[in-house]
Amino acid sequence: MERTECVVVGAGVIGLACARRMAMAGNEVVIVEAADAIGTGISARSNEVVHAGIYYRPGSPQAVLCVSGRDAVFDYCARRGIACERIGKLVVATDEAALAWLADVRANARSNGAGELEWLNEDAARALEPAIRCRAALHSPATGIVDSHGLMLALLGDAEADGAALALASTLRAASVTPNGFTLSIDSGGDTTRMGCRFLINAAGIGAAPIARSIDGLRSESIPEIHLAKGTFFALGGPSPFRRLIVPEPSVQRAGGIFTLDLAGRGRFGPDEEWIADVDHGFDAGRASGFYAAVRRYFPDLEDGALRPDYAGIRPRRNGPGEAMADWLLGGPREHGVAGLVNLCGVESPGLTAALPIAEAVAAMLLDGADADAAVASAAAKA
Ligand SMILES: Cc1cc2nc3c(=O)[nH]c(=O)nc-3n(C[C@H](O)[C@H](O)[C@H](O)COP(=O)(O)OP(=O)(O)OC[C@H]3O[C@@H](n4cnc5c(N)ncnc54)[C@H](O)[C@@H]3O)c2cc1C
Repeated sequence: MERTECVVVGAGVIGLACARRMAMAGNEVVIVEAADAIGTGISARSNEVVHAGIYYRPGSPQAVLCVSGRDAVFDYCARRGIACERIGKLVVATDEAALAWLADVRANARSNGAGELEWLNEDAARALEPAIRCRAALHSPATGIVDSHGLMLALLGDAEADGAALALASTLRAASVTPNGFTLSIDSGGDTTRMGCRFLINAAGIGAAPIARSIDGLRSESIPEIHLAKGTFFALGGPSPFRRLIVPEPSVQRAGGIFTLDLAGRGRFGPDEEWIADVDHGFDAGRASGFYAAVRRYFPDLEDGALRPDYAGIRPRRNGPGEAMADWLLGGPREHGVAGLVNLCGVESPGLTAALPIAEAVAAMLLDGADADAAVASAAAKA
C-alpha cells in the first residue's frame, strides 16, 4: 500500500490553501480531487468578494479569520500578480425599517475590526453611486474582489513547488482510523487504490460532512448536520450602473438583491436563498421575478429583460432555514479525539476570503496540537 504523510481531500480554495501550508511545513502532500480539474465546486460559484469582515458574529471563526484573511489575500495577490482590487461596498437600508439593522451592522463591523464604515445619507450615497436609491448606506472601502481561479492556481503552484502532488478524477470512497494514521480507499476511474497517511484534511466542501460520516473510527456526534442553501445568480446585460458592490438588508439579500462586479466590470445579482434537500446546481430561470422586485428596491431603473441567467452555487450551512447563522466547524484532534484528522464542515462565505488563515489554523491543529479556538487565534495573529 502506498503511504504519504498528508492527504488533503478536495482541490477547492480551502483544500489548496491547506495543501500549500502543509507542503511548506515540509510534509509530503497528496491532494485527492474527485473532479477532473481544480476549483470546480463551491469555489467556482462564489461572488469572488474579499469580505472586510462586517457581518459575522464577533469572535466566531469566520469573523476572526475573515479580517486576517482579507489582508492576507490582498497581500498574497499583490505578491503573486493575481488580479484583486479594493473596489469598496455600500451596505444599504432601502427603507426606514432597515435603519436599525444598518446601525447594528456598523456596530458589528467595529467589533470585528472590519474597518470604520462611514454612515451616508441618501444624498451622500448618491454622490458615490448616482443610480442608487436608499434611505442610508454604510461605505466599506476595505471590501474588494479577487480572481478566485487565479488565486487557486497560485496556491496549487506553491504547493507543487514544495512537492505536493495533485490526483484529479480521484474520489475518496472510505477512510478508517489506524494506529498510525488512516487507510483510505480512493476510486480513480473505476480502479480502487488504498493509501495510508498520517494526516487527513477533509476539505471536501459540500462533501465534507458525508466524508466525515464515512470515517470508520470517528464518533458520529462530532459531525454536524449540514443544510444546503442554494443561491442563484443573474448577470446584468450592458454596462454596470454601479462601481461598488451593493448589499441591501437581509430580506432583500435573500431574494437576490446583492450586487457584485467581476474584475472585467460585469455586474451580477445574487445569490438568493433557496433551501434544498439534495445537491442540484441546475438553473431555475423562473427565479428572475423575485430578483427584479428585490433589485428595484434600490435600483428602480432596472429594465425588464436586463437580467440574464448566470449560474447557481450551494452553501453548506450548519444552520437551517430561519435559524441564526452558525459558525464553521473547524474540527481537529482536540475536538473529536482522532489524531491527525481535521474536518472542515459548513465553511461557506467568507471561506474564499479566509482560505489562507484557515490553512494556518489547520496546520496549528495538526502540527502544534492546538485546539480549534487556539488555532484560530494563532492563525489570525500570524496572517
Ligand atoms: C453562492 C456563493 C457565494 C459565495 N461568495 C463568497 C464570496 O464572495 N467571498 C467569500 O469569501 N466566500 C464566498 N463564498 C464561500 C466560498 O466560496 C467557500 O467558502 C469556499 O469556496 C469553499 O471552498 P472549499 O475548498 O471548502 O470547497 P469546494 O470549492 O467545493 O472544494 C471542495 C472540493 O472537494 C471535492 N470533493 C468532494 N467530495 C470529494 C471526495 N469524496 N473525494 C475527492 N474530492 C471530493 C469537490 O469536487 C470540490 O472540488 C460563497 C459561496 C457560495 C456558495
